[in-house]
Amino acid sequence: MINILDKQDCCGCSACIQVCPKQCITMLEDKEGFLYPQVNTYDCIDCHLCEKVCPVLHSGKPRKPLNVYAAKNKDEKIRLQSSSGGVFSSLAEAIINAGGVVFGAKFDEEWKVVHGYTETKDGIADFRGSKYVQSWMGDNFSKVKYFLDNGRKVLFSGTPCQVAGLKRFLRKPYENLLTVDFICHGVPSPKVWRMYLKELLENHSVSSNPMSKKSVSIENISFRDKRLGWKKFSCVFMLSISDENGEKKTISLSEMFSENTYMKGFLENLYLRPACHHCPVKCLSSGSDITIADFWGMDKVLCDKDDDLGYSVMLLNNVNASFKLIAKLDITEIGYEDILRYNSPLEKSAVPDINRNYFFINLDNKSLSLLIPHALRRRHLLKLIYRIRNKIKTLIDSVGK
Ligand SMILES: Cc1cc2nc3c(=O)[nH]c(=O)nc-3n(C[C@H](O)[C@H](O)[C@H](O)COP(=O)(O)OP(=O)(O)OC[C@H]3O[C@@H](n4cnc5c(N)ncnc54)[C@H](O)[C@@H]3O)c2cc1C
Ligand code: SF4
Ligand code: SF4
Ligand code: SF4
Repeated sequence: MINILDKQDCCGCSACIQVCPKQCITMLEDKEGFLYPQVNTYDCIDCHLCEKVCPVLHSGKPRKPLNVYAAKNKDEKIRLQSSSGGVFSSLAEAIINAGGVVFGAKFDEEWKVVHGYTETKDGIADFRGSKYVQSWMGDNFSKVKYFLDNGRKVLFSGTPCQVAGLKRFLRKPYENLLTVDFICHGVPSPKVWRMYLKELLENHSVSSNPMSKKSVSIENISFRDKRLGWKKFSCVFMLSISDENGEKKTISLSEMFSENTYMKGFLENLYLRPACHHCPVKCLSSGSDITIADFWGMDKVLCDKDDDLGYSVMLLNNVNASFKLIAKLDITEIGYEDILRYNSPLEKSAVPDINRNYFFINLDNKSLSLLIPHALRRRHLLKLIYRIRNKIKTLIDSVGK
């Protein structure tokens, strides 16, 4: 049976919990806010199925793509709403048009990130755009299997480890399944995200009257707003605020990614899942049919096409990834090295920030708006101390010679 002794050995895909015939595995949240499987040994029948489906215990082989394309959706409105070039929406629309079902990650009513599915074109909008939080998978692998067994075409999109988990869970190839993952930097803790939103709402509910509070709710969140450009994207939070007199207004909080506290902590690897620092599915080894990503470096490789509104790269990993699907895409063939040069997460895991432990030890005692900047400043200080120490050591060594 599955027994996680080292947190880096579980990416949280949930394949084990969904395959267990005795339903004796539950996902429990740890102190950092990530889910890990816990087996009720009393009910376990030692069938080993949970081990057989685990993508960490059975990693795939590194691959090179068959073709690599720079791609954008021809529908400019959809492209603007997407994180990069809107390739996902184009693939999803083709599957819906063929009577299929699309799975992806969306916000639920509490702004938690969860996997779900849609059978309509309008439903694709919920999945559009990156959400930089680990998504909750629930029983979606079982739902994928249900639709596949009933002959429906299915597009499953998610992180490479979720795709690898699904493929192992299914345990046989399906002609009617298209899997789409992305080049993955890593996933932040859902607990940190929850705390960030709670603080955001609390900060905006403060009223000039100490006896009352404003009522605040979230109307919309975009991690990748392109109004100031795609390369310098912004995080936008739309809040609805009702004051003491019941008057309602909507405000839009917009910060460039390099200024937003949550994004800074994410991009500096302060609160990624431990498995992301030893990712088991780098180098396209998830088994996905198509991998999509931001075309960072586009201004150097394909500068004449760069309008700073977002371009994707699309790596075709599997001959079965039908070209009919990409009808609504504007594509240009490029080389693998053109994307690897500017997108190292394709092959390399993120290195944890030197203050990751410090961050989590203090998570329950400090506000995030103080803790994240403090941990990042502390890192600069530690780096400076190490640099000075090394310089002194070199100096002493040279004097001693
Ligand atoms: C956590 C995370 C890390 C990423 N790291 C990189 C990176 O290092 N380099 C890079 O080039 N690109 C990265 N991406 C992918 C990138 O942000 C875009 O999603 C990609 O360029 C495709 O954009 P698009 O315009 O075609 O589609 P979009 O409309 O942006 O498509 C979004 C797709 O991503 C899926 N998705 C969104 N959030 C999640 C989530 N939390 N978990 C699982 N699936 C999700 C949706 O289901 C949908 O399929 C990352 C995405 C996420 C969510
Ligand atoms: S060994 Fe079988 S019964 Fe036991 S936890 Fe794993 S899947 Fe469930
Ligand atoms: S990686 Fe997935 S299958 Fe393996 S133990 Fe973790 S949740 Fe279970
Ligand atoms: S970095 Fe690897 S382990 Fe982490 S979410 Fe992405 S694919 Fe999964």
